[in-house]
Amino acid sequence: MSNLEFKYYIPTKILFGEGILERLHKETLPGRKALIVTSAGQSVKKFGYLDRLIHQLEISNIEYVVFDKILTNPTRECVMEGSEIAKKSRCDFIIGLGGGSSIDASKAIAIVATNEGDLWDYFYGGTAKFKPVKNKTLPVVAIATTAGTGSEADQWMVISNQKTSEKIGFGFSKTFPVLAVVDPTLMLSVPPELTAYQGLDALFHSTEGYLSKKANEISDLFAIKSIALVGKSLIKAVKNGNDIDSRADVALASTLSGMLLAITSLTAEHAMEDGLSGLHPELPHGIGLALISEAYYKHIAEIGITSGRMIDMARALGVNHAKCSMDFVDALIKIKKACGVNDLKMSEYGIKKHEFPKIVELAKANAGSEFYAERKVLSDEECISILENSYR
Ligand SMILES: [Zn+2]
Repeated sequence: MSNLEFKYYIPTKILFGEGILERLHKETLPGRKALIVTSAGQSVKKFGYLDRLIHQLEISNIEYVVFDKILTNPTRECVMEGSEIAKKSRCDFIIGLGGGSSIDASKAIAIVATNEGDLWDYFYGGTAKFKPVKNKTLPVVAIATTAGTGSEADQWMVISNQKTSEKIGFGFSKTFPVLAVVDPTLMLSVPPELTAYQGLDALFHSTEGYLSKKANEISDLFAIKSIALVGKSLIKAVKNGNDIDSRADVALASTLSGMLLAITSLTAEHAMEDGLSGLHPELPHGIGLALISEAYYKHIAEIGITSGRMIDMARALGVNHAKCSMDFVDALIKIKKACGVNDLKMSEYGIKKHEFPKIVELAKANAGSEFYAERKVLSDEECISILENSYR
């Protein structure tokens, strides 16, 4: 019997390339009035990205309302506020302009703008109620200004609930953006540290997707290409933010990592990070991952059942002679050092050792499926020891 079996569904039209945002007016957009969902930070305005988008909408005669309140870890509360504005202003589609936070929030707003009740009625996991999403969600156009989450090319959104300290990932076939714009010129202003940990997020989507037991022939293609692009260009993009070729490589790595997440799964590394930043919402996702990555991959290397895949990953990162799992871990540490993010400390983000059992409990409650995507499911003790080994 053949083991070859997979599902492939990625319905997002992707426009990728330097300056491609300026061609947005040539596209048929999915409505007449957009809610532009963007970050509470200043960069999309300061660097002119919002103006460039508005110019495109004006050429196309599309009305818009700007909702610029999205924080690093987008919250349920903020999503509910955005959906109220979308309803009151009669917006018929959403444009997410920003990093993963803005794009994820757009997908969540798109659900509650057309469906009664609270976002947590529809999410799955923790205290969420997992009711069916009855009405058609608003169409989402995703314009990425960072390279990391790949959210422009998948159905997933991760939203925090301030009331319950939960941070839950959710998505289904109707929450893919209808259109994604990936223009590396929108990423030139990302500072080096952000470039580094967002690029590592893309790397970990691809490495987890490749190690996951849900990996398939297609996701493997995306994963290895994405890992290779990070290996080739992340350090260059961190060291010289104006290097457009390297920016484009890392942007493609990120989009590919989103595409693979649409058809495979993350693993316990991301689940544990969601536990960490669920309890500490001020902790940026990529930093949370960078903090635990070394101990996590060392542990996976010790388990040994994915050695062949870890060797493939090391080779993709450029270690041509790789012959054991630890070659991947060593290559990862080298990249983190070169990017200046190997000395981050959990204690500097207010994380306390005694919180680890709680973090693992949160992670397992909110992202259980990611634990079960491991080829060997990690026990609570193993997860706590990964967190302890990461603690500085
Ligand atoms: Zn991630």
